[in-house]
Amino acid sequence: MLETLRRLVQEVNQARNLDQALSIIVHGVKAIMKVGVCSVYLRDSSGAFILMATDGLLEKAVGKVRLQEGEGLISLVASRAEPINLRSALAHPSYHYFPETGEESYHAFLGVPIIHHRKVVGVLVAQDHAAQSFNEESETFMITVAAQLAGAIAHAVVIGDVKGLSETGSATLDSRSIEGLPGAAGVAIGMARVVYPLADISAVPDRQVENIPGELEKFEKALGAVRQELRIMSRRLEDKLPSQEHALFDAYILMLDSDSITDGIRTGIEQGNWAAGALREVIQEHEQIFREMEDSYMRERGDDVRDLGRRILMHLQQDTPADTDFSDNTILISEEVTPSMLADMPMDRIAGVVSVRGSRTSHVAILARALNLPTVMGAADLPVRHIDGQEVIVDGYSGRVYIAPSETVRREYRELLDQEQELSEELRGLNGLPSETLDGDKIHLYVNTGLLADMSPTQESGAEGIGLYRTEFPFMIRQRFPGEEEQRTIYRQVLASVAPDPVVLRTLDVGGDKALPYFPIDEENPFLGWRGIRITLDHPEIFLVQIRAMLRASTGLNNLNILLPMISNLSELTDALELIYQAYGELQEDGEDIEMPRIGVMIEVPSAVYQAGSLARRVDFLSIGTNDLTQYLLAVDRNNARVAELYDSLHPAVIRAMMQVVESARIYGKPVSVCGEMAGDPAAVILLVGMGIESLSMSVSSLARVKWVVRNLSTERAAEILSAVLVMEDAHSIRAYLHEQLEQAGLGGLIRAGK
Ligand code: PEP
Ligand code: MG
Repeated sequence: MLETLRRLVQEVNQARNLDQALSIIVHGVKAIMKVGVCSVYLRDSSGAFILMATDGLLEKAVGKVRLQEGEGLISLVASRAEPINLRSALAHPSYHYFPETGEESYHAFLGVPIIHHRKVVGVLVAQDHAAQSFNEESETFMITVAAQLAGAIAHAVVIGDVKGLSETGSATLDSRSIEGLPGAAGVAIGMARVVYPLADISAVPDRQVENIPGELEKFEKALGAVRQELRIMSRRLEDKLPSQEHALFDAYILMLDSDSITDGIRTGIEQGNWAAGALREVIQEHEQIFREMEDSYMRERGDDVRDLGRRILMHLQQDTPADTDFSDNTILISEEVTPSMLADMPMDRIAGVVSVRGSRTSHVAILARALNLPTVMGAADLPVRHIDGQEVIVDGYSGRVYIAPSETVRREYRELLDQEQELSEELRGLNGLPSETLDGDKIHLYVNTGLLADMSPTQESGAEGIGLYRTEFPFMIRQRFPGEEEQRTIYRQVLASVAPDPVVLRTLDVGGDKALPYFPIDEENPFLGWRGIRITLDHPEIFLVQIRAMLRASTGLNNLNILLPMISNLSELTDALELIYQAYGELQEDGEDIEMPRIGVMIEVPSAVYQAGSLARRVDFLSIGTNDLTQYLLAVDRNNARVAELYDSLHPAVIRAMMQVVESARIYGKPVSVCGEMAGDPAAVILLVGMGIESLSMSVSSLARVKWVVRNLSTERAAEILSAVLVMEDAHSIRAYLHEQLEQAGLGGLIRAGK
């Protein structure tokens, strides 16, 4: 049963459109359960349920049978959000008969809700002649099917809308917008460009092409190259392999020449798809056919088909010049946008970013904010394969993506975009003005960086220095650990770029979601594993080289501060301090004239909150890393879009933890800054000022917005707002209240699109 179910889900996931997906479901479930009828009803935007597919009822009823909200057994299943299993549906008071279905002879009824993101999107129904209820096994099977298929159905609904658009041209706004998570503030309108990892055949999107003969030629060339490659391989291994194994190469070549594969691809191209897209479609179809075969030998041939597909794809990619044809206002879209993918793009052409995976505090979102690119993360239902070349609107405030928007939506967003630009102009005017509250308290604003590319925006932003330099970024874009001199040069550039203003260089914080290509760490729970200071203390040679490079880079500038990440107990701090003093002593012995830098600890793990006093006593400053602190306090993976709703730094527990840190540090007279993304969130800034935090470090793109809040707020009022928030019990009400405060102060443009 499990295997059958797995295959069914896989088939549905690969369906080309909603009709195909639903038809696979109803035929599959009916056959597996051996029942008379299986149907799927989906909810439309008015809340009514429509019969979308059936195997067993009369075909003419599909699309015609419509149950208004509250009508019939289907609505009952939806409103209860649980299965209804009846001996005789006809006898039930909620039963609603539609003559066109021909269902009068089916008594037994089992309806289970299809639930996606907590919403009932449809109902899966099985019906049978006999007047007896379905047994428990059937019920649990249907529940499993519905749960597994909910995502695939929601996905197919969006594909249906996107594809159906050209035919109807009138889909409603909601049906074409996809909910994701706000990644970086701002609005962008542009053309979707889907990027995908090379040689990953399942990630290849469809792309419409004009030059069909050119595309056919590319395909024939790639085919010829693979044929040639296989012949060479076959010859090379002729006397090394037993004849049976060697015959595999002939089988490969035969497969390659089989009309069903190559003709299928040619047809796809002739219909306007580019060669890579047509290849993906046919290869996946064939792979599926093999995988469904009873014979295990034949089933494994599915791998061969995939391997062949990958080989052809590689040749096609070699033949396609690197993507230089980005139009202006490109919206970069991928299953998983990575920091290096973003770094590879022609920045002047990119207007916005959408990633299917990841969330607001993923490092790629942090990077996008540094680059001022409106971004939506975790857009799980985005039909990536089908949107290349479509017009797309990215709303980085609400986390919504609109695909092929209607004229009304486009007009509305153009207007918002104009207002945004006006707002940016106004904000730019703040650059030379002090960051001071209405009652005259200075709030020092710093920038978070990690790339040399964002040094000049940092210098122009009016920031008072760099509050967090993530040293792992230069480590991530290299092929090996950078040496002491190489690191010294980078750090020197960073320190010199803002001197005499201060710079906080954080020691290497790899692990978790930040991997070094040359230092792989394979762990079950990487965020709870070997991360940050834990790695560098285990490898003092890496730590000492880095500290020496930092110290040497600061010669004559003396604006260096060193920050230690992921400290979770005191011994880590004392060990790290010992190594820092060792490096400092060695350099002094070498005759270098260096001042001892200020040392700080990141508070980003719950244990550090409770020991903040002991930590503060031993160092010069504390810096709260709210990204990790929120993740560890709330037990919510900062990168997982599925639980992103639960990730909110305005959770009362996070606010109270931060207040405790501020109070503990105050006892020892040590300053506390905030360098997580919360420091760049205009709503949260009110609370941070209210807590008495005087240094905030954020993405350069957030700086002017935060300064605007600071300049329109008194510390006294901020403290009052904080007191009001402290009696609230959930992040949702806190955010709503803070947004209300911003709107009242005329600062609403900071938290939504427009001015
Ligand atoms: C944090 O955790 O808040 C932080 C600033 O560090 P990073 O986002 O690099 O983990
Ligand atoms: Mg962190």
